[in-house]
Amino acid sequence: MRSKDEQNEYSKQYYKDHKKEKLELAKLYYQKQKANIAEKKKVYYQSHKEDIIVKKKKHYLVHKIEKAEYNKEYRQVHKLELSEHKKKYYQGNKIEITVKLRKYSQNHREKAIRYGREYRQKRKCDILTHYGNGKCVCVRCGFDDIRALCIDHINGDGAKHRKQIGDGDNVKGGAYLYRWLQINKYPEGFQTLCFNCNQIKKVENKEVGGGKHKSVVQHIEHDNK
Ligand SMILES: [Zn+2]
Repeated sequence: MRSKDEQNEYSKQYYKDHKKEKLELAKLYYQKQKANIAEKKKVYYQSHKEDIIVKKKKHYLVHKIEKAEYNKEYRQVHKLELSEHKKKYYQGNKIEITVKLRKYSQNHREKAIRYGREYRQKRKCDILTHYGNGKCVCVRCGFDDIRALCIDHINGDGAKHRKQIGDGDNVKGGAYLYRWLQINKYPEGFQTLCFNCNQIKKVENKEVGGGKHKSVVQHIEHDNK
């Protein structure tokens, strides 16, 4: 008879020698018993739910950094598949997702408002930086207070363009224009100006007079909403 150690050694060696067949068999077994195994897993999970959650949390805390690294790498390698999967999932569950998001934002109204404001501020900063040649400043005078910076239509067709991207007579500007620039991947023909330089340019190019023009104060109020 073999001793316990010998038996262990033998088992290990046997497994090594027959690994391929064993894996094949296990795969076959899994395919055949898939439904049963899933059911068993479900039952086990239900009866050990609390222990499993505690264990998972503990494991997560110990391996947090490795996991984050792994996830990052995985997302980079599988970027296309993940984006396709996300799109497909959204298309298939559009209504549920919309309802869920609406409910969430109702329950987290304040947070949602703050998040929305922060998001719009960041977008504004990114766009003004792009059209300020890499700096969030007026390209004419270098003024850098974001509260008084805006996007200028270089050709002076701002009013017409705002009307085009708006809906009919409802002229859109401010946040709407920033969103439009972002969606259209930063097209050419725009620059970052401060309100002073913007007004001066309008006077120089005789763009002022007639039509609906917002005052500088209205611009500031609108852009900082
Ligand atoms: Zn300026």
